Amino acid sequence: MLETVTQVGDLTETEFRATLRAFLSEHNPGPEPSDPDARLSFQRSWASCLHDHGWAAPSWPRRWGGMELPIDKLVPYYEELALARVPGHPSPNAFIVGPTILACGTDWQRQRFLLPIVRGEELWCQGFSEPEAGSDLPSLRTRAERDGDFYLVNGQKLWTSRAMVADWMFALVRTGGPASRQRGLTYLLIDLETPGVTVRPLRDMTGGAYFGEVFLDNVRVPVAQRLGEENDGWRMARTSLGHERSTSRIAMVVRYRRVVAELVDLARHRGLADDPVVRQRLADAVISSRLLGMTFERIMANVLRGGEPGPASSVSRLFLATFEQRLHELAIDLLGPAGMLDASDPHSPESGRWTWGFLNTRASTIGAGTAEIQRNTIAERVLRLPR
Ligand SMILES: Cc1cc2nc3c(=O)[nH]c(=O)nc-3n(C[C@H](O)[C@H](O)[C@H](O)COP(=O)(O)OP(=O)(O)OC[C@H]3O[C@@H](n4cnc5c(N)ncnc54)[C@H](O)[C@@H]3O)c2cc1C
Repeated sequence: MLETVTQVGDLTETEFRATLRAFLSEHNPGPEPSDPDARLSFQRSWASCLHDHGWAAPSWPRRWGGMELPIDKLVPYYEELALARVPGHPSPNAFIVGPTILACGTDWQRQRFLLPIVRGEELWCQGFSEPEAGSDLPSLRTRAERDGDFYLVNGQKLWTSRAMVADWMFALVRTGGPASRQRGLTYLLIDLETPGVTVRPLRDMTGGAYFGEVFLDNVRVPVAQRLGEENDGWRMARTSLGHERSTSRIAMVVRYRRVVAELVDLARHRGLADDPVVRQRLADAVISSRLLGMTFERIMANVLRGGEPGPASSVSRLFLATFEQRLHELAIDLLGPAGMLDASDPHSPESGRWTWGFLNTRASTIGAGTAEIQRNTIAERVLRLPR
């Protein structure tokens, strides 16, 4: 199968979609289990299945387990996966650290880390934020002191998504002086099984423990696990994440088209589809989902033309975050008092999915950079307004 798939880059788009669709309909494992542990194993075996059949990591080199797919096939790839509703990768963060290792790592690091990432065998979390350093990341204080072939790391990371299930953490640590800001940061790959690492779950407002805090107490990290040079971590963290990140957003466009259709069904089901205010808000949801798709097409056009996603990329992130909040606010209004019931209540509509989504999307305008910071970025870097 692998041999066949290595040729798929040469197919026409129609042939490519048909080949991928045939694979997906033969191997689609069906809906994900709701139990978190079962879901994780389910996602892991799907990641291995994709790799076994040569359909994993579309833009990565074949040598490191990817498909080396040309850029014009990336959108069809993500679109078909989203339409087939196959499981996601068990470790989305792995696709932040993976391209960074590809671009800046040593051959040993590529050999050691990339294949387990592609196959979902090792899960990663991102250790950047700290109690006193979120938006102002260059002020972070977790310290790494060189001790022969090791760094001795002390400090605390916070809001670390999936830290409880992760095997590894990619972290920014301070190796320069206390006032060195971004010039004194180093990028380390830390095995979370190392003595001195403690992970504690943090409960979020959905009732789940999606993220945690990670304490590092005299943790010995081999120098071989440093990515790039000492004090060059900021550049590593900002290394282009590749086209894959922007193109993979197509999956979100497809998903939100579906969610908007489900929201219209919800309005009909609640007998509110003729209410003029509800109709107005539904129309806004439909228009917004189309705008999201069109913004995405602009990003792709930029990538194909000049190699970079361009300003539309910053705008689309902010737009997506506020859009998913508005969708769930409408769903909760449609549900009325029933919107107060979560999954634990047998009377909750659709097993509490809208209530969960409403609570969960509160974080959309905080995680991966707050909406205020994104607006600053758009104002200063895109619109060139004064600071
Ligand atoms: C769901 C979720 C998942 C996350 N996952 C991770 C993860 O895996 N790894 C990780 O390292 N971090 C993670 N984070 C942390 C996230 O990156 C930070 O919460 C975020 O960067 C904001 O930092 P902070 O919480 O310290 O808030 P602060 O930076 O203290 O900001 C507080 C408020 O002040 C505003 N503000 C701050 N500076 C400015 C400014 N210059 N101009 C205007 N307004 C400003 C902010 O917008 C915000 O409203 C996650 C957060 C969430 C919600």
